[in-house]
Amino acid sequence: MAKTVLIVEDEKPIIDILCFHLKRSGYEPLTATDGESGLALALGKTPDLILLDVMLPKMDGFTVCKAVRRENAAVPIIMLTAREDESDKVMGLDLGADDYITKPFSVKELLARVGANIRRTSVAREETVPADILVSGRLKVHTGRMEVSVDDSPVDLSQREYDLLLYLMNRAGAVVSREELMHKVWNFDYVGDLRVVDVAVRRLREKVEPTPAEPAYILTKRGIGYLFSGEVDA
Ligand code: CA
Repeated sequence: MAKTVLIVEDEKPIIDILCFHLKRSGYEPLTATDGESGLALALGKTPDLILLDVMLPKMDGFTVCKAVRRENAAVPIIMLTAREDESDKVMGLDLGADDYITKPFSVKELLARVGANIRRTSVAREETVPADILVSGRLKVHTGRMEVSVDDSPVDLSQREYDLLLYLMNRAGAVVSREELMHKVWNFDYVGDLRVVDVAVRRLREKVEPTPAEPAYILTKRGIGYLFSGEVDA
């Protein structure tokens, strides 16, 4: 079945270009031209990926992103941001977007990102056999059910945060570079903006670390990458 891509964008020419190329690549596009109807489609039609503009009538892209994340942690969201606005990028990631692309974008790059983000989610869903329970201190990961808990309270992670945690736990004690994480967890075959990794780590820490400012599990190796500290029992 064709994967559906929801485009939330108020500029008609951009919608037309995106629809044309997405269809040609085998996706089924859905479109919304304002934030409110975009959110309604995102929740009602459960698309496989969302392309989300920031500046939108009725409800801005950040608000839509936040509202979608509250309901559906797994759907990949790519924000479409204006080139000048550096703060927009980090803001989108902070609110739970998986990736962003700056306007004007190349169609080739956009399709590569769409492919990488959709592939990542489906691979992660199929890759979970055999089921395993990983425990480190107060942290528990049930890989069969893709569930994470701290002190036996369930933690709601996005797909990417879950993949990131699992990747680091499976390599506990080893420093993993941000580039490697970008390749393996984000499935990007190019090195994009490494801040994507840093923001995801920060969000993950806020959810699983007892004291996020002084992490006990996910340590930073300055200038290199990250390391899962502590014993992991399977
Ligand atoms: Ca716009």
